[in-house]
Amino acid sequence: MAKIVAFRANLKDWLPKKGKNKDEKQILYDQLEKLWPKAIKIIYGKYDGEYCYCEVCGKPYIESEPGVVPGLNAHHVEGKQSYNLRWEVTNGTPIDAGCHTMRKDSAHQDRTIFIGKMIEIRGREWYDNLLKIKGGKEKWTIARMKEKKEELGSIINQRL
Ligand SMILES: [Zn+2]
Repeated sequence: MAKIVAFRANLKDWLPKKGKNKDEKQILYDQLEKLWPKAIKIIYGKYDGEYCYCEVCGKPYIESEPGVVPGLNAHHVEGKQSYNLRWEVTNGTPIDAGCHTMRKDSAHQDRTIFIGKMIEIRGREWYDNLLKIKGGKEKWTIARMKEKKEELGSIINQRL
Protein backbone atom coordinates (compact mmCIF):
# COMPACT_ATOMS: atom_id res chain seq x y z
CA MET A 1 0.00 0.00 0.00
CA ALA A 2 2.73 2.44 0.97
CA LYS A 3 4.40 1.76 -2.35
CA ILE A 4 1.27 2.68 -4.27
CA VAL A 5 0.88 5.93 -2.35
CA ALA A 6 4.50 6.90 -2.96
CA PHE A 7 4.14 5.99 -6.60
CA ARG A 8 1.07 8.19 -7.05
CA ALA A 9 2.69 11.09 -5.24
CA ASN A 10 5.64 10.84 -7.61
CA LEU A 11 3.45 10.83 -10.66
CA LYS A 12 2.22 14.32 -9.79
CA ASP A 13 -0.34 15.48 -12.29
CA TRP A 14 1.12 14.50 -15.60
CA LEU A 15 -0.66 11.17 -15.72
CA PRO A 16 -4.17 11.25 -17.13
CA LYS A 17 -6.83 10.64 -14.50
CA LYS A 18 -8.83 8.18 -16.57
CA GLY A 19 -8.68 5.92 -19.57
CA LYS A 20 -6.39 3.26 -20.87
CA ASN A 21 -3.53 5.74 -21.40
CA LYS A 22 -3.15 5.71 -17.66
CA ASP A 23 -2.33 2.01 -17.56
CA GLU A 24 0.12 2.27 -20.39
CA LYS A 25 1.85 5.24 -18.80
CA GLN A 26 2.07 3.50 -15.47
CA ILE A 27 3.63 0.45 -17.05
CA LEU A 28 6.15 2.59 -18.92
CA TYR A 29 6.84 4.58 -15.77
CA ASP A 30 7.66 1.42 -13.84
CA GLN A 31 9.85 0.13 -16.66
CA LEU A 32 11.77 3.41 -16.90
CA GLU A 33 12.28 3.44 -13.15
CA LYS A 34 13.93 0.02 -13.39
CA LEU A 35 15.98 0.70 -16.51
CA TRP A 36 17.43 4.06 -15.49
CA PRO A 37 19.57 2.87 -12.53
CA LYS A 38 21.01 0.03 -14.62
CA ALA A 39 21.89 2.38 -17.47
CA ILE A 40 23.57 4.77 -15.01
CA LYS A 41 25.78 2.03 -13.58
CA ILE A 42 26.71 0.84 -17.06
CA ILE A 43 27.56 4.30 -18.37
CA TYR A 44 29.37 5.73 -15.36
CA GLY A 45 30.42 2.65 -13.37
CA LYS A 46 33.65 2.01 -15.36
CA TYR A 47 33.09 -1.74 -15.36
CA ASP A 48 36.39 -3.60 -15.66
CA GLY A 49 35.13 -7.16 -16.06
CA GLU A 50 34.44 -7.69 -12.39
CA TYR A 51 33.90 -4.41 -10.57
CA CYS A 52 32.02 -1.17 -11.02
CA TYR A 53 33.30 1.90 -9.21
CA CYS A 54 31.69 4.64 -7.18
CA GLU A 55 31.98 7.66 -9.44
CA VAL A 56 32.84 9.98 -6.56
CA CYS A 57 35.25 8.06 -4.29
CA GLY A 58 36.33 5.29 -6.68
CA LYS A 59 35.64 2.33 -4.39
CA PRO A 60 35.06 -0.95 -6.28
CA TYR A 61 31.86 -2.99 -6.04
CA ILE A 62 31.12 -6.34 -7.64
CA GLU A 63 28.64 -6.28 -10.48
CA SER A 64 26.27 -9.24 -10.12
CA GLU A 65 24.70 -8.83 -13.57
CA PRO A 66 24.89 -6.08 -16.19
CA GLY A 67 23.88 -2.82 -14.53
CA VAL A 68 23.22 -4.50 -11.17
CA VAL A 69 25.75 -3.54 -8.53
CA PRO A 70 24.45 -4.10 -5.01
CA GLY A 71 26.90 -1.63 -3.42
CA LEU A 72 26.04 1.27 -5.72
CA ASN A 73 22.97 3.50 -5.93
CA ALA A 74 22.01 5.47 -9.00
CA HIS A 75 21.64 8.99 -7.62
CA HIS A 76 19.72 11.78 -9.38
CA VAL A 77 22.12 14.75 -9.43
CA GLU A 78 19.15 17.06 -9.90
CA GLY A 79 16.42 15.56 -7.73
CA LYS A 80 13.68 13.22 -8.87
CA GLN A 81 11.16 16.04 -8.65
CA SER A 82 12.82 17.49 -11.76
CA TYR A 83 10.63 15.55 -14.12
CA ASN A 84 12.50 16.61 -17.23
CA LEU A 85 15.59 14.90 -15.82
CA ARG A 86 14.02 11.90 -14.19
CA TRP A 87 15.30 9.40 -16.76
CA GLU A 88 18.04 11.56 -18.28
CA VAL A 89 21.23 9.52 -18.26
CA THR A 90 23.56 12.48 -17.74
CA ASN A 91 21.60 13.25 -14.56
CA GLY A 92 22.61 9.98 -12.89
CA THR A 93 25.69 8.93 -10.98
CA PRO A 94 26.48 5.53 -9.47
CA ILE A 95 27.64 6.14 -5.92
CA ASP A 96 28.03 4.06 -2.79
CA ALA A 97 26.26 4.56 0.54
CA GLY A 98 29.05 6.74 1.95
CA CYS A 99 28.91 9.18 -0.95
CA HIS A 100 25.13 8.93 -1.26
CA THR A 101 23.79 9.45 2.25
CA MET A 102 26.18 8.50 5.05
CA ARG A 103 28.98 11.04 5.11
CA LYS A 104 28.59 14.69 6.07
CA ASP A 105 29.64 15.65 2.55
CA SER A 106 27.40 13.07 0.86
CA ALA A 107 24.89 13.87 -1.88
CA HIS A 108 21.93 13.92 0.50
CA GLN A 109 23.67 15.73 3.36
CA ASP A 110 25.48 18.52 1.55
CA ARG A 111 24.15 19.09 -1.92
CA THR A 112 26.40 22.09 -2.64
CA ILE A 113 29.61 20.20 -1.87
CA PHE A 114 28.35 17.20 -3.79
CA ILE A 115 27.48 19.20 -6.93
CA GLY A 116 30.92 20.82 -6.69
CA LYS A 117 32.54 17.39 -6.70
CA MET A 118 30.44 16.26 -9.63
CA ILE A 119 31.41 19.37 -11.62
CA GLU A 120 35.07 18.61 -10.86
CA ILE A 121 34.57 15.10 -12.20
CA ARG A 122 32.41 15.80 -15.26
CA GLY A 123 33.09 19.45 -16.02
CA ARG A 124 31.08 22.66 -15.96
CA GLU A 125 29.72 22.08 -19.44
CA TRP A 126 28.04 18.88 -18.30
CA TYR A 127 26.27 20.67 -15.45
CA ASP A 128 25.24 23.65 -17.57
CA ASN A 129 23.72 21.25 -20.07
CA LEU A 130 21.88 19.45 -17.31
CA LEU A 131 20.35 22.72 -16.11
CA LYS A 132 19.37 23.51 -19.67
CA ILE A 133 17.44 20.25 -19.95
CA LYS A 134 15.94 20.89 -16.51
CA GLY A 135 14.60 24.25 -17.66
CA GLY A 136 13.37 22.93 -21.01
CA LYS A 137 9.97 21.65 -21.96
CA GLU A 138 9.72 17.88 -21.66
CA LYS A 139 6.32 16.34 -22.11
CA TRP A 140 6.21 12.72 -21.02
CA THR A 141 3.82 11.48 -23.63
CA ILE A 142 3.59 7.75 -24.24
CA ALA A 143 5.67 8.22 -27.39
CA ARG A 144 8.43 10.06 -25.49
CA MET A 145 8.41 7.48 -22.72
CA LYS A 146 8.78 4.71 -25.30
CA GLU A 147 11.67 6.57 -26.90
CA LYS A 148 13.35 6.89 -23.54
CA LYS A 149 12.77 3.21 -22.86
CA GLU A 150 14.50 2.38 -26.16
CA GLU A 151 17.43 4.64 -25.28
CA LEU A 152 17.94 3.12 -21.83
CA GLY A 153 17.32 -0.40 -23.13
CA SER A 154 19.95 -0.08 -25.84
CA ILE A 155 22.54 1.11 -23.31
CA ILE A 156 21.85 -1.98 -21.21
CA ASN A 157 21.74 -4.33 -24.20
CA GLN A 158 25.22 -3.27 -25.25
CA ARG A 159 26.45 -5.01 -22.13
CA LEU A 160 24.36 -8.18 -22.35
ZN1 LIG B 1 31.82 6.61 -2.95
